[in-house]
Amino acid sequence: MKLSDLFFDRRCGICGEKIYEGAVCGKCEKEIASHINVRSRRIYVGTKGYEVRYLFDYGVPIVKDLLFRLKRLSNKDLFKYAAELYALALPENFEGFVTNCPRRGVGKRKYGYDQVEAPCRIMCKGRKGLKYKHLVNRHGLSKEQKMLSQNERAENVKDKFRVIKKDIPKNILICDDVITTGSTVGECISALQKTGNNVSVTVVCLASRNIFPREG
Ligand SMILES: [Zn+2]
Repeated sequence: MKLSDLFFDRRCGICGEKIYEGAVCGKCEKEIASHINVRSRRIYVGTKGYEVRYLFDYGVPIVKDLLFRLKRLSNKDLFKYAAELYALALPENFEGFVTNCPRRGVGKRKYGYDQVEAPCRIMCKGRKGLKYKHLVNRHGLSKEQKMLSQNERAENVKDKFRVIKKDIPKNILICDDVITTGSTVGECISALQKTGNNVSVTVVCLASRNIFPREG
């Protein structure tokens, strides 16, 4: 045991077990790893389809736990761990700008951070060809998407995103934690497309929740 262990109480970011290094305990890490499966689906914004790459099915309990904790604990080690997970879903040889679908204002004010932006910034540090850029802001009030039906979801986020930079890069990767119908990230893409720049967008998510037979 190191002397520092007496002073720093380090716990697994998922189950709370005492650990000595890293973000999660060996058991949680092994379980999370067993569920990693990089796949992709498509979402449509108007008639244009976009690739969404993701690692997990949202239905897996430990994945839900991880996402829940990322939203509520400002834990730098857990952000680093999530950064490694996002990186696994990157398109091969991707070079370009990384941004995130911004958290609702109410969550950002309550917890003081954005649970997708924090890991994405870490992911871009020291990785050649990746640069984080904050491109989109979220405006006005919107409810939590998970409480709403498919139509209500689309309405809830409509026109809530504004692009804040004038010089929009061509090749953009948008990260988000969970994708369900794709309406939130679709609005984000729509805001980027409305700038008139012909941008190429790929989406990377940690988990996909397939509760609707049709998505869009
Ligand atoms: Zn654990």
